[in-house]
Amino acid sequence: MYSATKYIFVTGGVLSSLGKGLASASIGALLESRGLKVTFQKLDPYINVDPGTMNPFQHGEVFVTDDGAETDLDLGHYERFANVRLGKNSNFTTGKIYHSVIMKERRGEYLGGTVQVIPHITDEIKASIRLMGLEGDVVIVEIGGTVGDIESLPFLEAIRQFRSEAGKDNVLYIHLSYVPFIKAAGEVKTKPTQHSVKELRGIGIQPNILLCRTDQFLGDDIRAKIALFCNVAKDEVFTAKDVESIYEVPVVFHQQGLDDKIMELLNIWTGKPRLDSWTELVRKIQNPKHEITIAIVGKYVNLKESYKSLNEALAHGGVANECRVNLKFVDSETITDANVAQILADAHGILVPGGFGSRGVPGKIAAVRYARERKVPFFGICLGMQIAVIEYARNVAGIPGADSTEFDPKAKDPLIYLMREWFDERSGTVQVRHDDTEKGGTMRLGAYTCVVADGTFACAAYEKESISERHRHRYEFNNAYRERLEKAGLIISGTSPKGELVEIVELSGHPWFLGCQFHPEFKSRPMDPHPLFRDFIRAALSYENSMSQTPAKEAK
Ligand code: GLN
Repeated sequence: MYSATKYIFVTGGVLSSLGKGLASASIGALLESRGLKVTFQKLDPYINVDPGTMNPFQHGEVFVTDDGAETDLDLGHYERFANVRLGKNSNFTTGKIYHSVIMKERRGEYLGGTVQVIPHITDEIKASIRLMGLEGDVVIVEIGGTVGDIESLPFLEAIRQFRSEAGKDNVLYIHLSYVPFIKAAGEVKTKPTQHSVKELRGIGIQPNILLCRTDQFLGDDIRAKIALFCNVAKDEVFTAKDVESIYEVPVVFHQQGLDDKIMELLNIWTGKPRLDSWTELVRKIQNPKHEITIAIVGKYVNLKESYKSLNEALAHGGVANECRVNLKFVDSETITDANVAQILADAHGILVPGGFGSRGVPGKIAAVRYARERKVPFFGICLGMQIAVIEYARNVAGIPGADSTEFDPKAKDPLIYLMREWFDERSGTVQVRHDDTEKGGTMRLGAYTCVVADGTFACAAYEKESISERHRHRYEFNNAYRERLEKAGLIISGTSPKGELVEIVELSGHPWFLGCQFHPEFKSRPMDPHPLFRDFIRAALSYENSMSQTPAKEAK
């Protein structure tokens, strides 16, 4: 057995979007399948202290951990591929590192010394990495950005230094690069990879393993060429081949012997990996028995990255039902009462996801109404739940002025509003919110307990009374309207343990209509699909069956 914690640093070269996060997650899955305890960290070179305030159009989804950290979406990949629950120490940015160094400087902790990038910033980075060392046999640390960027230099310098401190046997550098196929030349080109490795070596890091992203398996000759120029052995060059489903990546890596190589280089002894569950998963994804379409009615529809966990959770719900789930992204700004039926006609389920701001709200309300009246399975998440409640209040409970104060601060009937005081179970204190509280500081973030009511869709899905789900929102259901809505038929099927915060609402007399204030998508995994997504997809599948059995005339 091994004794010290092992560290694997994953860097990327040539260009972004090569799938460094997925590669890191897949390596984690492989090591875990060998019985190792794996954990992860992402080091992001940007200056924002966390991605919480970043525009999802630009940066993609903000992934929320149990402890309420707003983190990079790659943490979502890590949690989905390996059996880990990560927290705030799994994501550091340049901003967070500098913030902590500057705070120390203000407190006089540097004893009058000149505070510099080397050693103070790099020391801070190394200390952050070591925090994770306590949590696993192997820590996989992914460095954001591309080698050659100015911003990532302090991180690269820190991981360079890290090797001599942690011991050569305990540190491995894996570099993901790009090997394009150039049509005109009729061959793949290794030069970009050579250059990016040269860049890395120029700052003192010799990669031990190269992962080459490309669309076909690289032949021996190409691997030999890359090996020669990049100063590694041929069997240390692997193909990160394009795949149809991201869940194929661990299997494709394993088939080439990547995990064996990592074990050898890190001098770790384990049994053979158990990959049955991964091959079974891939088989199911590749051979679905059914196919349905889910309409996602939202705002950030142009950038699929902004709904990363949601897309994956829907796919997992599909796996649970042996069903391919096609996603139809609909910009809610294009929906009106007049065209909603036409736009959503081919959807077997409708989902309104989380979001911020008032843009596109009328279209979302029209979509909820359509789902409710036509009995199309409906799933509202966070903002989606709030919209569902507003729709019900306006169109069923007879409260036409119902709104969220997020959309209309002067709403006549503030059904969704900023709750002044609420009990925060994690800190055990009463939290006070003011309208003018700084934007970033007022969210309910991270895992909270929810108590589920008997005989509801929620109860049928979870099969337990007490659940824990992750939150990221400011506004809450206003209890002043609770009785009226319940009388009008809205079922409150989940609340906080003290009952003051509404967490889940649903409708009876509908095949499946549920809205939740939390984000269940953050906890779904391919091997363990989230029960709400599983049941939503199941309902959509029955809806699809009933649609295909209804004679065309009647369906109209
Ligand atoms: N904007 C809403 C709120 O802050 C919903 C947030 C979300 O959907 N994540 O409460």
